[in-house]
Amino acid sequence: MEMTPATLDILTVGHLVKENDVVKEAHSTSALIRSGDKTIVVDTSSKERRDAIKYSFRSLKVLPKDVDIVVTTHAHGDHMGNDELFPNAQFIVHEEEGLSEGHRVMDGDILEIAPGVVIVHTPGHSRGSISVFVEGDERYAITGDAVPLEDNFRRMVPPGIHFDREIALQSINRVGEFADIIVPGHGFPFPVRR
Ligand SMILES: [Zn+2]
Repeated sequence: MEMTPATLDILTVGHLVKENDVVKEAHSTSALIRSGDKTIVVDTSSKERRDAIKYSFRSLKVLPKDVDIVVTTHAHGDHMGNDELFPNAQFIVHEEEGLSEGHRVMDGDILEIAPGVVIVHTPGHSRGSISVFVEGDERYAITGDAVPLEDNFRRMVPPGIHFDREIALQSINRVGEFADIIVPGHGFPFPVRR
């Protein structure tokens, strides 16, 4: 039997509104991965994006109730505002986010969750920040706020909120070494090399 590679769709593109460097509004990117027999969502964005996410599911002819796994890149509200749309999913979060209730807790550095789909620990923005590396038609990294915006990657600027600058930069580098395309936490996907 031939394996079809993992596919990736963006359910809603994240956004960040800043005023004098203060974040006024934040909605995360939400992404859908299909690989093998698994349907996976990475982050569920904020409540304001619920209609957009539902619309994307309808367009893709996928039902939210059929989602098997939701990966929470980190435990901030603008990345988990629509978790309740996925009643049958297992929710995965890193141990260092300190959010064990109702979640499968990942410890360590990497965890494969489907063929060509691997969760990688990318701390910096928070201690338990994780990214999802996908081998599809290209190599994608869905980073949450390890890489909030393209600018952070291009200029090697750590996320505005971080607990350790060096660790945050190491994580950005790790994402860049793997990915052809980065799907950042709060902006449009972009190619690593251009
Ligand atoms: Zn965050």
